Amino acid sequence: MALIVQKYGGTSVADLERIRNVAQRVIKTKERGDDVVVVVSAMAGETDRLLNLATEAVPGPDERELDVILATGEQVSSALLTIVLNSLGYKAKSYLGHQIKISTDSVHGRARITGVDADKIFSDIREGRIVVVAGFQGEDEEGNITTLGRGGSDTTAVAIAAALKANLCEIYTDIDGVYTTNPNICDRARKLKRISYDEMLEMASLGAKVLQIRSVEFAKKYGVTIHIRSSFNESKGTIVCEEDTEMERALVSGVTYDTDQTRIEITKVPDLPGTAAKFFDAISAADIVVDMIIQTSSLEEGYANMAFTISKVDFPKALKVAQSLAKEFGAKEVIAEEEVAKVSMVGVGMRSHSGVASKMFGALAKEGINIKMISTSEIKISCIIDAKYTELAVRSLHDAFELGKES
Ligand code: ADP
Ligand code: ASP
Ligand code: MG
Repeated sequence: MALIVQKYGGTSVADLERIRNVAQRVIKTKERGDDVVVVVSAMAGETDRLLNLATEAVPGPDERELDVILATGEQVSSALLTIVLNSLGYKAKSYLGHQIKISTDSVHGRARITGVDADKIFSDIREGRIVVVAGFQGEDEEGNITTLGRGGSDTTAVAIAAALKANLCEIYTDIDGVYTTNPNICDRARKLKRISYDEMLEMASLGAKVLQIRSVEFAKKYGVTIHIRSSFNESKGTIVCEEDTEMERALVSGVTYDTDQTRIEITKVPDLPGTAAKFFDAISAADIVVDMIIQTSSLEEGYANMAFTISKVDFPKALKVAQSLAKEFGAKEVIAEEEVAKVSMVGVGMRSHSGVASKMFGALAKEGINIKMISTSEIKISCIIDAKYTELAVRSLHDAFELGKES
């Protein structure tokens, strides 16, 4: 007998028919003799609807109240699933985040889980109940409702699996695993049987939204094995676990893209010690998270160009800071680009092989795609390009590295 945490995403609980389908899957697990804790997302589109409603009421609504509104999406789906399970003769009980003490910090809209009360869940399990938890939400020390950021139900599921020391955390979604790239834009994408936490972390942080980044961080930290599967079929999905010898020895595992990117460049900044520090102090004081930074200096002329990328929401704020400091520094100009994207190659094989970068740049050049910025880490290479070439770039890179072929 195993203890399994199953998480069902928004498309899996989009309507009553799908909720009934989820109930059947949960029942099948229970009938097999396993204990099951279910985490659900809000019904598809509901979180967006609530977000729009709040911002229509007042632009930039109070963050505490916004979390109170957003958390209702999961309240509805968790109770609906529980009602259906009960009607089918199975003992089930739904819980909101605060009812099973999913404790978080107080950062509304992207709170971090700090604890889960496993005893409460265990006592229901001992009584033969199926526990259904509303994902995406928790409670801070003052008792305020918090939410965990978009895609946060993944993190609820993994955190509960870690707290219960569950045998497995199954993430059910609209796709039957992690692919070499998003199959929605590349029909040659291939499903990966296994992927390491480190690669999944990179893929998630570089745009593959199949898992929330924090859920992978949690899984890695507590050694939770994740199985990503489809709630619409029975196929085996992708296992996310510690790197092992059974993993594909591919140089590159996947191509990801992120269109939530903008780029700002300040040209001809006097190249003096402290300029970058002053600039990025001002950026961080404005609560702006910077992704890539590139500074190029011309020794002869005594000037530097400073370029950085930020997400679309931070663009207006960052542009203001850049313009005001550019003036103060006596820089030449501020170049702002709102339509850029980041495409990345990810793979643990890159640690021990060279040549990925040149092949990547060559594939983009062949399509006439200009690279605006490059950044690398041990297991990834990212390029900033014009957003209109995103899909072309992803497909070309996928082909160039022959990711559609089993290695
Ligand atoms: P859920 O609502 O179930 O949490 P999400 O929409 O958050 O589902 O995540 C699943 C989606 O992730 C897929 O429909 C797919 O479009 C997208 N995706 C992006 N990159 C990948 C990838 N490499 N492999 C699988 N899915 C991916
Ligand atoms: N409902 C939330 C969202 O749409 C959380 C989740 O689905 O994981 O982001
Ligand atoms: Mg998701």
